[in-house]
Amino acid sequence: MSQIIKVAVTGAGGRMGKEVVKMVLEDDTLQLVAAIDPSKSGQDAGTLAGAAPCGVSVTGDLELTLVESKPDVLVDFTTPHSVVANTQLAIKHKVRPVIGTTGFTPEQITELDELCKKQEIGGLIAPNFSIGGILMMKFAAQASKYFPDLEIIEYHGDQKLDAPSGTAVKTAEMISEVREEKRQGNPNEHETIEGSRGGYYNGFRIHSVRLPGVFAQQEVIFGGFGQTLKIRHDSYERAGYMPGVNLAVKKVMEYTGLIYGFEHFID
Ligand code: NAP
Repeated sequence: MSQIIKVAVTGAGGRMGKEVVKMVLEDDTLQLVAAIDPSKSGQDAGTLAGAAPCGVSVTGDLELTLVESKPDVLVDFTTPHSVVANTQLAIKHKVRPVIGTTGFTPEQITELDELCKKQEIGGLIAPNFSIGGILMMKFAAQASKYFPDLEIIEYHGDQKLDAPSGTAVKTAEMISEVREEKRQGNPNEHETIEGSRGGYYNGFRIHSVRLPGVFAQQEVIFGGFGQTLKIRHDSYERAGYMPGVNLAVKKVMEYTGLIYGFEHFID
């Protein structure tokens, strides 16, 4: 039998973190060894996640917890403010980071990749762990070869901290790798209300809608002669991301360096 993978979860009491805790507890090949979320310290991680008590108490000090519990993998769903430091600490202690938190800059990703290589461990930063979300990004990149005029519209809840979403940024990057260079639209357009045309990225626009009641959706709209094409993905619940997180926790044990994007695990 293959070795059990020991998992720590940062943001264990958050909306995504609770799903991760439940997913780890339900998989016999994974063992929850630590759960970190400072404002929920002392609570049982299983109970906090809405499952049976699991005997792992939530802690507040990540470094101390990593040293004491010696996990193989750290899964992080926290905030853009804390995730970089959390990832650096994990790598420092040779704990493979699987990061779902969004808001990284390209420079931060490069730096973390170098740290992973130095420590000879694998890592993953994935702005979107859902299979449907990944397919939406791949199909959008493919369509952009034939329809270089496009706009991305992403929809999230009104409390989301970063904009555009990590998924929108990743989609824009994947499109830019294959789309012909083009600054679309009228070169003389001007905004009478600042920001009306959305964020500018490599010749096209990204729009971020933030509303209560919305979970996570994105559409990429392509315009051509006499036609439009829309590619859209709708997420309805957080559990939908867990098969992807589960696969990532296992895959990250098998390579060295930081991979950016869950699409690299899907053919
Ligand atoms: P959330 O419900 O606010 O959960 C975040 C949790 O992290 C909270 O319990 C928070 O505690 C805790 N936290 C804050 N700083 C921490 C630290 N330094 N160490 C440990 N825990 C800390 O947020 P969410 O909805 O779960 O989303 C979390 C992140 O995942 C966001 O960036 C979101 O965009 C991203 N996300 C990614 C995917 C994907 O597929 N990659 C999918 C959905 C969401 P307090 O409440 O006390 O601050």
